[in-house]
Amino acid sequence: MKSRLGNLRLYKFDVPSESDVGVMIISFGGVHLCERFQLTRCTGRGRGRGSKAGLSKSFVDSLHWSFMAQHRSNITNQIFDYIVSNFSFKDLDVVPPACPVLVFHFQIIGLSQYQVNENDITTLVLSTLRTRDSVLSVEDAIARLVPIVAPTTEIVDCYQSPELCPLCEKGYPKEDEIVHKTKCSHIFHATCISRYLLHTPRCPACSLELPPVDMRTLLFL
Ligand SMILES: [Zn+2]
Ligand SMILES: [Zn+2]
Repeated sequence: MKSRLGNLRLYKFDVPSESDVGVMIISFGGVHLCERFQLTRCTGRGRGRGSKAGLSKSFVDSLHWSFMAQHRSNITNQIFDYIVSNFSFKDLDVVPPACPVLVFHFQIIGLSQYQVNENDITTLVLSTLRTRDSVLSVEDAIARLVPIVAPTTEIVDCYQSPELCPLCEKGYPKEDEIVHKTKCSHIFHATCISRYLLHTPRCPACSLELPPVDMRTLLFL
């Protein structure tokens, strides 16, 4: 069985001692790869290729290297498409002096169905930030980890159906393609719906508006 991309979640972690910080966590089974980065280095810079949705090429590169380390480099493009069609990072190139840490959590589902919960994520974020002088108890820290509102599409694992994707008229499954379900419960290939939403933020099946989540508003306002 092939490894699939499982839960992909964004959180804001509200700690007063940090600013302009992002944390990327990639989980595979019980193994976690954690990386701390400067948020403004990954947003707003460079308007060329790879800066879709306000994310910079350096973020894409860093995702790519992280997945290379897990031998899962082939899913980087699908992950990136998912992020840019669900979230907008525009105008995040300047962040206020006190702002929450932005946490990206990617979980790859393989042979192990180990589910990472918010408790685990809090512990990983705390150890990645290495706030030695932090007085946060684990309970207090957990309360400060807030999921970013539900994205417009979610990843459906190992989907099979006799129906065809309305966008490309091919069936499921299709090669390495993962499948997305929209908020309105319509099913499409990940690449098909991600590319469609980048240009038209509406469901192709029922026309429900599916705008990307505006990260700036969520984090700072
Ligand atoms: Zn399709
Ligand atoms: Zn729909």
